[in-house]
Amino acid sequence: MPELPEVECLTRSVASAISGLKCVDIDFYRDAIRDPIPKDKLRDILVGQKIERVYRRSKYLLMETAAGIGVIHLGMTGNLLGFESKDPTIKHTHVVFTFGKGRKSLSFHYVDPRRFGRISALFPDEIDEHEWFRDLGPEPLETVRLSEHLFKASRKKSSPVKSFLMDPNVVVGVGNIYACESLFLAGINPLRKALDLSQSEYGLVASAIKKTLKKAIAAGGTTFRDFKNSDGSAGYFVVDLNVYDRSKKPCLKCGNPVNMERISGRSTFFCPFCQT
Ligand SMILES: [Zn+2]
Repeated sequence: MPELPEVECLTRSVASAISGLKCVDIDFYRDAIRDPIPKDKLRDILVGQKIERVYRRSKYLLMETAAGIGVIHLGMTGNLLGFESKDPTIKHTHVVFTFGKGRKSLSFHYVDPRRFGRISALFPDEIDEHEWFRDLGPEPLETVRLSEHLFKASRKKSSPVKSFLMDPNVVVGVGNIYACESLFLAGINPLRKALDLSQSEYGLVASAIKKTLKKAIAAGGTTFRDFKNSDGSAGYFVVDLNVYDRSKKPCLKCGNPVNMERISGRSTFFCPFCQT
């Protein structure tokens, strides 16, 4: 499943390609992906309009014009691939957005084999109250006082700190891999209750989250072409994993075997000696 770093890199790539261009057409090859696509509203908001900004909120890619915002979520297997032609060449192409004109035109093809993704359209005043956005926690990389935010938000949370960090209403973008890696880097046991961590421990966690996500984004920036499986669906960036998926292998810090436990149904990897 594409995570925050993949969506961030995709967003940057799309932004550099289409910012300032006009959306000239949208071709739909399905009426719905995970939800019905509001085709008329999407056309009204994008077609004939200049793309003023392409940005990311949580794992949503947003294309803003004077008329509103086009919203894309990749779900499990979605991807947005740039082509010179608007004609679909890959199976499972559901929507094609075309920008610019004539020889300079460029199309982004939304490809999604399993169809858990979403495409929608919002008028400018709708985003803050929309159900996909209104309860989201802050962006980890844009929040200066992330440690204070986490400390305050955790005071009544008896859930394991790992589940707390993965809750998008607390902070967005900390998926399973990034939660495991960040807690390893911070030296915090993922099973501890969120409310039992001190403010200085949340300081370690916050800087570990930022470092881990930045590293993945930096890796994505150089391996963007690999962000694609042969069927066009999105793959993971290859990131150096210090603890994730290393069950029973030696801890890279102390050499003792890495543990695996399920927390809230998700595989959790940690070193019981380095993470206390
Ligand atoms: Zn260790």
